[in-house]
Amino acid sequence: MSEKQAKNDAGWKFDNSYSRLPNFFYTKINPTPVSSPKLIILNAPLASSLGLDEGALRSSDSLAIFAGNQIPDGGLSIAQAYAGHQFGQFNRLGDGRAHLLGEQLTPQGERVDIQLKGSGKTPYSRYLDGRAGLGPMLREYIISEAMFALGIPTTRSLAVVSTGETFLRETEQSGAILTRVAASHIRFATFQYASEFGTVDELRALADYTVLRHFPEATGAENRYLALLQEVIKRQAQLIVKWQLVGFVHGVMNTDNIAISGETIDYGPCAFLDVYEPGTVFSSRDSEGRYAYGKQPDIAAWNLTRFAETLLPLLHDDEKQGAKLIEDAISDFSEQYHSNWLSGMRSKLGICNEESEDDSLIEGLLHLMQTYRADYTNTFRALTLDRPEDTIMYDKLDFRQWYELWQARLSRQQEAKAFSHQLMSNNNPAIIPRNHRVEEALTSAVVQGDYSVMERLLDVLSSPYAYSAEQVEYATPPVLSTNCYRTFCGT
Ligand code: AMP
Ligand code: MG
Repeated sequence: MSEKQAKNDAGWKFDNSYSRLPNFFYTKINPTPVSSPKLIILNAPLASSLGLDEGALRSSDSLAIFAGNQIPDGGLSIAQAYAGHQFGQFNRLGDGRAHLLGEQLTPQGERVDIQLKGSGKTPYSRYLDGRAGLGPMLREYIISEAMFALGIPTTRSLAVVSTGETFLRETEQSGAILTRVAASHIRFATFQYASEFGTVDELRALADYTVLRHFPEATGAENRYLALLQEVIKRQAQLIVKWQLVGFVHGVMNTDNIAISGETIDYGPCAFLDVYEPGTVFSSRDSEGRYAYGKQPDIAAWNLTRFAETLLPLLHDDEKQGAKLIEDAISDFSEQYHSNWLSGMRSKLGICNEESEDDSLIEGLLHLMQTYRADYTNTFRALTLDRPEDTIMYDKLDFRQWYELWQARLSRQQEAKAFSHQLMSNNNPAIIPRNHRVEEALTSAVVQGDYSVMERLLDVLSSPYAYSAEQVEYATPPVLSTNCYRTFCGT
């Protein structure tokens, strides 16, 4: 065991398969030690599913690992290289403030990345400081865990530690490090990096690694790289629909923030809709609305096209035929997206069979919500609870007409009302991490050092489909719509 490696009694069982890729893909580098780390929050259920012992994770040895002061036994710290499109501009990037410690092999036989975020500079830091603030790391913790509970594929958060150090951004910030758990950190931008700066052999090594790690069934396909592309498209079509259905706005869908695995990754300026308004943008950096709620599906297709292009040399010996394969695969995305969306929306409205007019019934409701500035989550919540009088649209004639159409539609299926109701409550969260609630929890934590508000919020967010009494107060929208709420990328 090397000097820097910590005793391994928490249950870490590391492999480092990513480090067996060509050196081109990463730099071996340890985190920068911090002066006086403190454990702020630990995710006990996640720890246990990873085969880790909660008690041991609360020890000083584990604190040293979460703080980047020691590398766990079997781990090998690296920063990953990537290069991708940020707001449409291609840039050479890489983990500028993150260190991948290795892959935990879980008791369920899974392999998940364990990464520190906010753990110091790397060769990819450019002019940036390598650090992260306590507020933004707790924000990632809360939202990623809320997404998990909503049933949306996502990276997760194992722990946040404060570093005991401050750094300067717009204002002085308390430093923190998040331990992130991900199916992997292979991004669209990892492929772009290989395609732009690597050899075809390096690109193939990455593609083969990705197939083996995430899409093993594609190994036997006639064209495994086409199978890889199709599978990545399928997962994006599933993921983006899930975002749209709950009103999640990622905020910074740059190609370095899109995971090949199909998980949501990189919770920066993300937020959830209050009022249904497709033009909603939360990020202060997104002045042009590139990543607005309603644009997410088109941006996903754009990102997929950038990813697909990287595979060109692998797809076919003939470039033209390769391009045709890409074109067909990408056009499939829109169809898959629409059909997943339609089926998800039918479920949100308790509809079990298919009618050709369902699309316009759904669009009709969305249009009404937009016109009357109705809260997205609470409209579906009111319909689920069979309390249309709870929506602000209730006294509007056109809403009443829509409601009658919907009731008539429900009567044209065999399933009992109770079945429809169950379908709706399984698909319409009673609560989401509302911006004003998240801010309130973060202020309490960061300014007052009081974590109880956040802990309670995390608790209610952990079962969003429960419709429990304690959730009622968390369902209240803010007094003023926070769709004009701004998230800052002091992330
Ligand atoms: P993001 O917008 O958070 O996805 O980050 C884009 C790129 O900037 C990634 O390569 C990050 O690693 C890097 N980055 C963001 N913040 C910092 C920071 N404080 N120090 C170093 N690199 C950073
Ligand atoms: Mg990023």
